[in-house]
Amino acid sequence: MKRILITGAAGFLGSHLSDRFIKEGYYVIGMDNLITGDLKNIEHLFKLKNFEFYHHDVTKFVNIPGQLDYILHFASPASPIDYLKIPIQTLKVGSLGTHNLLGLARVKKARILIASTSEVYGDPLVHPQTEDYYGNVNTIGPRGVYDEAKRFQESITMAYHTFHGVETRIVRIFNTYGPRMRLNDGRVIPAFIGQALRGEDLTIFGDGSQTRSFCYVDDQVEGIYRLLHSDYPYPVNIGNPDEISIKDFAEEIIKLTGTSQKVVYHPLPVNDPLQRQPDISKAKALLDWEPRVKRAEGMKITYEYFKSLSSEELMKEEH
Ligand code: NAD
Ligand code: UDP
Repeated sequence: MKRILITGAAGFLGSHLSDRFIKEGYYVIGMDNLITGDLKNIEHLFKLKNFEFYHHDVTKFVNIPGQLDYILHFASPASPIDYLKIPIQTLKVGSLGTHNLLGLARVKKARILIASTSEVYGDPLVHPQTEDYYGNVNTIGPRGVYDEAKRFQESITMAYHTFHGVETRIVRIFNTYGPRMRLNDGRVIPAFIGQALRGEDLTIFGDGSQTRSFCYVDDQVEGIYRLLHSDYPYPVNIGNPDEISIKDFAEEIIKLTGTSQKVVYHPLPVNDPLQRQPDISKAKALLDWEPRVKRAEGMKITYEYFKSLSSEELMKEEH
């Protein structure tokens, strides 16, 4: 049985990846310090024989007894309000955490895939974003702690590949959504749906002309699964190119939820990227991958998930 370590396993993407690798017959070792994740996301896995969990901070030395074939490094705060609240931890998990996991991969002769992000492109001047675009990041801006941690993460990963021959994969994930996102993590999809469910107005930041391209989680997981099993060590964009302005997206949410609330405008956060759309030619050519789930379908499933939460969870303030 192949053994895979998934860091950030109690988070949104890590929990879906854990499910997928369990389904494929792997022995899954989840690791998480629960700083933004929740054990609820993986509680259904605890009863399985081929799952175990380590409550551990990956910025501290990481060791796993026995054979290890693959590592997926997904531990990191991922939403702007999270990484603004815990900036140093964000920098540390991308740098020290990645260093620890690359060291583990080297010792175990495991293949490692690291979760990078479209944020390495910053506020992009090239549109749509191709992997060969170097990006436009403000190192000292509020988002710099996340963006630069991820850029460093890519560099050290390539260095381990080049100098130590470690088998590495780098996925640049574009905005992904679905069940198990945290309702109060500040990202636009939980924010808008939470507001609609609580009967609050939807908060658009800026004039709403900024764009994003939202990928349903199952498509993202499929892309990551294929990339891990490919032989390509350079970064690959995985995301859905279906681009929409935040203003139009708010209208879609109003229709989906049937809320009678209106939209209200708040200032645009500093360095909030004005446009974002993945060029996925590389993923198509290398992995024969493209997203299958349309936004209308994915958003319906996501809305059902948020509706199923208790009213206590719905009203919970962000910690
Ligand atoms: P998430 O916050 O739901 O999950 C992250 C998990 O990592 C959490 O469970 C958290 O507790 C854990 N974690 C954080 N620091 C840790 C540490 N030092 N040690 C151990 N565990 C730690 O976020 P997510 O959306 O699932 O994102 C997962 C990964 O994917 C992140 O690396 C993120 O940067 C990347 N990513 C996500 C998106 C997206 O749209 N969801 C986009 C781009 C990149
Ligand atoms: N956004 C918004 N209202 C909110 C939350 C977010 O208008 O209540 C905007 C945000 O400014 C950004 C876009 O929605 O332009 C996507 O934000 P998110 O935090 O989901 O992702 P990211 O900015 O990291 O792509």
